[in-house]
Amino acid sequence: MNPQKFSKMDIVSLLNAKKSKILDLMMSAYKQREHQHVTFSKNVFIPLTEVCRNECGYCTFRKDPLHPETCILMEPSAIISDLKKAGKYGCKEALFTFGERADETPQVKSALEELGFESMIEYLHHICQETLDKTSLLPHSNPGTINFKEMKMLKAVNASMGLMLESTSHRLMKMEAHAKSPGKNPWLRIQTIENAGKLKIPFTTGLLIGIGESIEERAESLLELRRIQDKYGHIQEIIIQNFRTKAGIPMEQHPEPSLLEMIKMVSVAKILFPDVSIQVPPNLNRENAQIFLMAGADDWGGVSPLSKDYVNPEAPWPEIEELETLTQDAGFRIKERLAVYPEYTSKEFLSQIILDKIEDMKFKQ
Ligand code: SF4
Repeated sequence: MNPQKFSKMDIVSLLNAKKSKILDLMMSAYKQREHQHVTFSKNVFIPLTEVCRNECGYCTFRKDPLHPETCILMEPSAIISDLKKAGKYGCKEALFTFGERADETPQVKSALEELGFESMIEYLHHICQETLDKTSLLPHSNPGTINFKEMKMLKAVNASMGLMLESTSHRLMKMEAHAKSPGKNPWLRIQTIENAGKLKIPFTTGLLIGIGESIEERAESLLELRRIQDKYGHIQEIIIQNFRTKAGIPMEQHPEPSLLEMIKMVSVAKILFPDVSIQVPPNLNRENAQIFLMAGADDWGGVSPLSKDYVNPEAPWPEIEELETLTQDAGFRIKERLAVYPEYTSKEFLSQIILDKIEDMKFKQ
């Protein structure tokens, strides 16, 4: 069935599937797989700052800027040293993920000024340029919601960029998940993803499942991503991430989504997006990761041989060898990819500096 033809009611009905209908759903999703391998990108995670203007109810990454152990701003020399080390381990992606609009905080603002920068985005651009000039890695930045001008500046020095849509639900802005997070306003996030589309930036987005959204809202979120992809065609992967509870977070008592809910979400995502890779983070699903491959997941995302997952520090990434074993056990092959997928490695999507870097890497995708 043509993915553009799915109505909200069709999707809701698939997400509510019971008994053998779930197996049918998985089989339909499985058949959408274009290939029998599962991709991953060898990356290193660089959290430029632990300060964030948002306070999401499920976050363990954000730190108080007044706490003495908080990383206000990573210095360029420390970043380049980490990236060079990562290069020796075979990493090819420098993943810059950090708190949103941290420069609204005086401590970050003054740390930036000491280094001669006016904003986090200006600093990020500099760090990406340094990455290209001094290391063997390709930058992939997740700076949160940013405007068109900022995104245009970053496109020149990034192989791809990302922003989780998480959910189109405005209700969540009044709930524990997003009540203190202006940056989680769905309109802002959609605008950011669309700006990336207008600029033809290869993009990673995704949904966070189980933070209080309804089945109908899950369907609406998927349809919104489909609308954007039909309009711009720049989404290279969609992450279906399950909420995991953690000690000490405001949502500690909130229930996690069940395995079946996740299987249905992954399956429906693949059916709706045969043209996009569907990623399930293996570190959040260590016991269940293999089952998602049967439901159409075809990418493990970034896996690091040396940096921990700062966003989910309690869930370490499986070693690459372990990932290889569990992928093979399920009957698939593991395949390394770059931060940008082969379909997007062209002048239409990448700056010449990134294309030249990829050429130098001599990496066979
Ligand atoms: S989840 Fe992301 S956006 Fe939300 S508070 Fe944490 S770092 Fe900020």
